[in-house]
Amino acid sequence: MADPSSVLIEDGIIVTMDPRRRVIEGGHILVEGGRIAEIRGPGSKPSRRAEQRISAKGMAVIPGLVDTHVHLAQSLLRGCADDLSLVDWLKKRVWPIQGSFTREDGRVSAELSMLEMVKSGTTSFVGVDIVSRYGFEGIANAVVQAGMRGALAKTIMDSPGYGRKGSIMPAGLVEKKDECVREAKSMIRKWNRIKGGRVRTWVAPRSLGGCSKELYEEVAELAREQDARVTMHLAEVNEDVKYARKNFGLTPFEFIEKVGLAGPRSLFAHMVWLSGSDIRRVGKTRSNVAHCPSSNLKLASGISKVPELLGAGANVGLGCDGAPCNNSYDMIREMKLAAVTQKGRLLDPLTMPATTVLEMATLGGARAMGLETEVGSIEAGKRADLALIDLKKPHLVPYRDIVSNVVYSAMGSDVDAVTVDGKLLLRGGKALTLDEGRIMGEAQKRQDELISRSGVRA
Ligand SMILES: [Zn+2]
Repeated sequence: MADPSSVLIEDGIIVTMDPRRRVIEGGHILVEGGRIAEIRGPGSKPSRRAEQRISAKGMAVIPGLVDTHVHLAQSLLRGCADDLSLVDWLKKRVWPIQGSFTREDGRVSAELSMLEMVKSGTTSFVGVDIVSRYGFEGIANAVVQAGMRGALAKTIMDSPGYGRKGSIMPAGLVEKKDECVREAKSMIRKWNRIKGGRVRTWVAPRSLGGCSKELYEEVAELAREQDARVTMHLAEVNEDVKYARKNFGLTPFEFIEKVGLAGPRSLFAHMVWLSGSDIRRVGKTRSNVAHCPSSNLKLASGISKVPELLGAGANVGLGCDGAPCNNSYDMIREMKLAAVTQKGRLLDPLTMPATTVLEMATLGGARAMGLETEVGSIEAGKRADLALIDLKKPHLVPYRDIVSNVVYSAMGSDVDAVTVDGKLLLRGGKALTLDEGRIMGEAQKRQDELISRSGVRA
């Protein structure tokens, strides 16, 4: 059956995230042509009938969550790289396994990551660090098929280093500068803004040690020329600070600003090791940050100073990072962790309230992707990217402040339905565009094969 051109989502608790942060109990959302046409309160039905009706009774309807930092090629590494420090984690486990990927592994890993995201309410994501061997085309096709909104960032590099000396990548992941720049340009031409803007191509220069100063400058120029956005890991661990000090006499962010990469079209993941002056500059340049609390805590990288970044005017979104460092792609879990870690760090229960965290996971993420006029809130005219959370669970009753229940009590598995552009990707907790049985079966088999091919003992 063809997708219905209009859908009515009826009788839900709508968490709009509009400028007034309204919550409409017993509300209805009429979707037409993939966009939100009308939002009505109880007792006031929309002016037109819809082809399809979905009951949201007993459910919270929230804007689809935006994951601003996802390694699509890491879900196949789940459980393979635990309890190690970042540099050892990369060198001994993650890189050797990823350096053994085939393009089919790349596609299945992307499908598994998307399956988990859709099932836990994520509708948009930034897929970072896509190297050639994962097969950019196969991944882009998988995003089209899955129906999610995804920015795919092609890796750019000209050095196999990372931070301190000796952290050398395996040959399977090393790309020549000319080749990765050429592929980035061709993928931008082919995939940027297809399917009504649902798929985008970004560029991902490798973190410090992975690119020369000249290459960072070239990436800044390429992004401007090609109208593509940039994302990279920055100031994740103290090694980054030492490297930037030693090689450039600057902090990591000062260096990135100097090469022309700071600004509202750039998204920097982690940003844990920032000085007070760095934090002010992140805000001043209106740069975007992808905060990944699970990853930073599990790898013992530190805790990003998120309330300070927000106070300085920086835009901060949330990211699940990857399966070896999180170990899940569940933004609802990530929201709770984002709130409680800052409260603990600052010994201040008032910091990072639930609303702020939900803003980061919706509006902040949308802004980080340059999509703030399209998604991130439930408002007439925006695209219908929505997640319905089933509240008929012991851990979700009773409720008084629905945002509190969503952020502090809900889990990804409470998500019942998801739409992107008004199209259902999940209903009754079942994925409609991704074949769950096939993907999970293939994932186990491919992980076993990858481990034996890579020679890693995990
Ligand atoms: Zn990452």
